[in-house]
Amino acid sequence: MAKDQYNPHETEAKWQEYWKKNNVFSFDQNADKEVYSIDTPPPYASAAHLHVGHGMHYSQFEFIARFQRMLGKNVFFPMGYDDNGLPTERYVEKVHHVDKSKVSRKEFIALCLEETKKAGKNYYDLFTQLGFSIDWSLLYQTIGPRARRVAQLSFLDLHKKRYLERTDRPTMWCTFCQTTIAQADLDDLERSGTLYHVKANVKGTEEFVTFATTRPELMMACIAITVHPSDKRYEHLVGKTAVIPGSHAEVPILADEMTKMDFGSGVVYWCPFGDMNDIEFVAKHPELEVKIILNPDGTLNEFAGKYEGMTALEARKAVLSEWRAENVIEREESINQVVNVHERCKTPVEFLRQKQWQIKVLDQKDRLIAQGRKVNWYPDHMRVRYEHWVQNLKWNWGISRQRYFGVPFPVWYCDECSKVLLPDESQLPVDPREEQYPKGSCTCGSTKISPEMDVMDTWMTSSLTPEINADWGGKERKNFLPMSLRPQAHDIIRTWAFYTIVKSYFHHKRVPWNDIMISGHGLDEKGKKISKSAGNFIVAQDVIKKYSADAFRFWAAETKLGEDLRYQEKDVATGQKLLVKLYNAARFVFMQLSDFDRASKPELTTIDRWLMTKLHKLIVSSTKQWKEYDYSRPKAHTEQFFWHQFCDLYLEIVKDRFYDEKRADQKPAAQYGLYHALFSVLQLFAPIMPHITEELYHKYYWSDKKIKSVHVTSWPAADDFLVDEQAEKIGDFAVQVIEAARKYKSEKKVSLKTPVTARIVGPLQEDEWLLIVDDVKGTIKAQDIQYTFTEEIKSGPVEESFVFEIIQTS
Ligand SMILES: [Zn+2]
Ligand SMILES: [Zn+2]
Repeated sequence: MAKDQYNPHETEAKWQEYWKKNNVFSFDQNADKEVYSIDTPPPYASAAHLHVGHGMHYSQFEFIARFQRMLGKNVFFPMGYDDNGLPTERYVEKVHHVDKSKVSRKEFIALCLEETKKAGKNYYDLFTQLGFSIDWSLLYQTIGPRARRVAQLSFLDLHKKRYLERTDRPTMWCTFCQTTIAQADLDDLERSGTLYHVKANVKGTEEFVTFATTRPELMMACIAITVHPSDKRYEHLVGKTAVIPGSHAEVPILADEMTKMDFGSGVVYWCPFGDMNDIEFVAKHPELEVKIILNPDGTLNEFAGKYEGMTALEARKAVLSEWRAENVIEREESINQVVNVHERCKTPVEFLRQKQWQIKVLDQKDRLIAQGRKVNWYPDHMRVRYEHWVQNLKWNWGISRQRYFGVPFPVWYCDECSKVLLPDESQLPVDPREEQYPKGSCTCGSTKISPEMDVMDTWMTSSLTPEINADWGGKERKNFLPMSLRPQAHDIIRTWAFYTIVKSYFHHKRVPWNDIMISGHGLDEKGKKISKSAGNFIVAQDVIKKYSADAFRFWAAETKLGEDLRYQEKDVATGQKLLVKLYNAARFVFMQLSDFDRASKPELTTIDRWLMTKLHKLIVSSTKQWKEYDYSRPKAHTEQFFWHQFCDLYLEIVKDRFYDEKRADQKPAAQYGLYHALFSVLQLFAPIMPHITEELYHKYYWSDKKIKSVHVTSWPAADDFLVDEQAEKIGDFAVQVIEAARKYKSEKKVSLKTPVTARIVGPLQEDEWLLIVDDVKGTIKAQDIQYTFTEEIKSGPVEESFVFEIIQTS
């Protein structure tokens, strides 16, 4: 007969199929039960393979979904795919080697849809293989009709409430992605650069003034040079004119406090728009006429004169060679500089004037910080990151993107009077790029109407995931908002969390969720970020294939919430060992239970009550921790309880009652202890290791409980197990004795079954000792134990708290 061994792959697939077929995780639309709703992060539909970090992040809140379900709540656990917007477009450009400017909008969108379908399938497969308890009937896509309607409804509502404006102030521009971007899309990039000290003639004199710049290529845009008003060195030059070498343009020399006296030469040449300071500078000096010399693709335009058509890099070389020819470069200084780059492509940002829609957030900072404080942050210190972000905002939220694959603005413009023309809410979703303005003509009578061709920033839609889940403006779910939980990673606090709080406040004057849990990242074994380019990409499904989903999830629960977690194969292997141990222990337990009367309430011995007290305390602490989104401590403590107190001790201690006829009267109590404690262990492990626990539940408990899944049984209630502090104290002493005997035998290299005679001096009263003496003797195979009570040794380290002596080994 083949040995009964745990086969994780067969078992996991079996239960995944069972859960699906029996709708175990369906959200019940009509139930009266308390709803627990999760604002699942919709992953970008732009990854061919998913690494262990993705699996870890999603597992961590999947644990929570299962725990809350066992608390009896009606869990709303949806999935969404964030398949619109720049991440998808960039991915399509990469895998299909296309450039959006060289294919038609239709062709490009078709490719995007093709890729999002593939990515959706990838996620579905991974999440299913990890055993996620998602209700797939709640799936949404951010490019789908429901999300488009919600995003456009959001636009109309913001417009009505005057949170929107359309301006042509300079905006941040990515020349690589060819779109405007927002402050939240920026990253800092540290790099070394050269600061050129360049001499310019002061017109009508023999004198030269030396300015310092890192951007020679912007020379043709220069509108002024400035010195600090209190800089004595240059006082006499203010009001005069400088002749810029190379272009020979004449620009005013101004005094302006924005000049840093101690940077470079203390003289700045201003070439809007080279960076954010230029925007402030131009706003202060309306008298200066700005010439923007950059095309959207990063080449120079007609205002750049002889440099027209060059890339910025080519222009830089050309300008430098002219300056060298004129012999005006006084000094070249190596410096480290921090430049703002687009986080998705690492291209340094440029600034363009582009008419675009913006959501006004700068004048709402205090209110937005107050909203953030109404949400419970887990861990709490993550709230500070949110507040720092809001405090340091410098830009309103620009939402126009000059891209193809996104939710279109529900906007047309009248060609005659420039009026902004909007559809009615009931007409949503609309696509002005494909459809006529639904109301036909402007109020001015004109029928000459043009569509807005831009699409909205992808965050414009993903900031509305609570509203999408609630079906805002559709068949709205009642009393659904705020949602219970937003789980997300810490790197998108400034985007996803922030924008969602903004939207919820502007639309409904409330917070989007009660709680937010912030996960860390999965790192490689050396603590580095996992990425394809770094060559440390560990595909999540490979790990599941080699071990199991439960073992993978066991690893994902290793770290405290909010902390980054290194992928360590040995941790997955440890999880795998636990599965096998659970399986074998359960088999052994139930071999002893063939004649166990489930309804009985036998009188428990001290050791039984010791186990029940430990279990009670574990349940109390775990429940509290789970409610605070702490899965790692309950996991570690349950693991400790199971291996040590349950398997190493209790199971070994009660064996004697099964094998020794004379102790048969205490057998039902041992059966009771094993049966109930093992069930609680399965339940406590269920959120983290759903497959093995379901397997053992069905194998051993289902026929008694008749509930379709361990995952919908009620979370263990601590009250079921009475606390007996006295029994715990006495039991702890028995454990010390047993461990001392085991240590002795292992040091003497004799079998644990070798009979001994022992002498013990301990802190238990004689009558207390009698409560455990049979269990101790049975476990350490003592033929005789001479026990003496002493008052002197009541506490202290284990070894010193009592005397344990083997008198004879035979
Ligand atoms: Zn970019
Ligand atoms: Zn009009």
